[in-house]
Amino acid sequence: HDPQLWSEVDRYIAERLVPADPVLEAVLEASAAAGLPPIHVAPNQGKLLWLLARLQGARRILEVGTLGGYSTVWLARALPPGGRLITLEADPRHAEAARANLERAGLAGVVEVRLGRALDTLPRLAAEGQGPFDLVFLDADKPSTAEYLRWALELTRPGSLIVADNVVRAGAVLEGSSRDPSVRGIRRFYEQVAAEPRLSATAIQTVGSKGYDGLALALVLPEA
Ligand code: SAM
Repeated sequence: HDPQLWSEVDRYIAERLVPADPVLEAVLEASAAAGLPPIHVAPNQGKLLWLLARLQGARRILEVGTLGGYSTVWLARALPPGGRLITLEADPRHAEAARANLERAGLAGVVEVRLGRALDTLPRLAAEGQGPFDLVFLDADKPSTAEYLRWALELTRPGSLIVADNVVRAGAVLEGSSRDPSVRGIRRFYEQVAAEPRLSATAIQTVGSKGYDGLALALVLPEA
């Protein structure tokens, strides 16, 4: 366990592979100035989201949990011309900051920020016939991650990719008797993924400037 070393390695990686970007830096600065918590993905993780969206050839992306729009900018930048991203955020202050950040990033025409609890806005997306989304990024409140996965399955197609962040929680995911609602939610998420014949998935543990956590990737398979 050496969190400082993890951060230094993150910096080493980012300095070489994730060039400094004034737009992304401005997003983080404005988010901090607006009092948002610094719980956005790290730069090298943002780049991973961008790579996954590119590999996926994603034209429609759904994000659950916007914060100030940092990961949103990474994902939206991976879209081809005409691509669209919808991001869901429950906190009006976060949504407002994200809208301003996306405007500044020149992405206001590509990204729609929907304000509301995701368990309310996800059914609305389904009722509107939005989707199928090619990539879904689950990064909101962790207790509800399993429920968000249900909706992600409604809103995707065979070949879509579902990504979920914070699925290790510094190892607390092992604690079957945990009373922590986030741990319980993440454990339900694993059970649901494991029991879902439409998904083939893995998760990897991550260390870095964001501590010790993990990322899950689930591919939506063709109906058997
Ligand atoms: N994806 C962002 C990034 O990496 O830049 C970080 C998202 S942050 C970890 C989680 C966000 O989910 C917070 O902005 C929080 O307000 C939002 N959130 C919490 N509960 C929510 C809910 N029920 N529905 C939608 N968003 C929610």
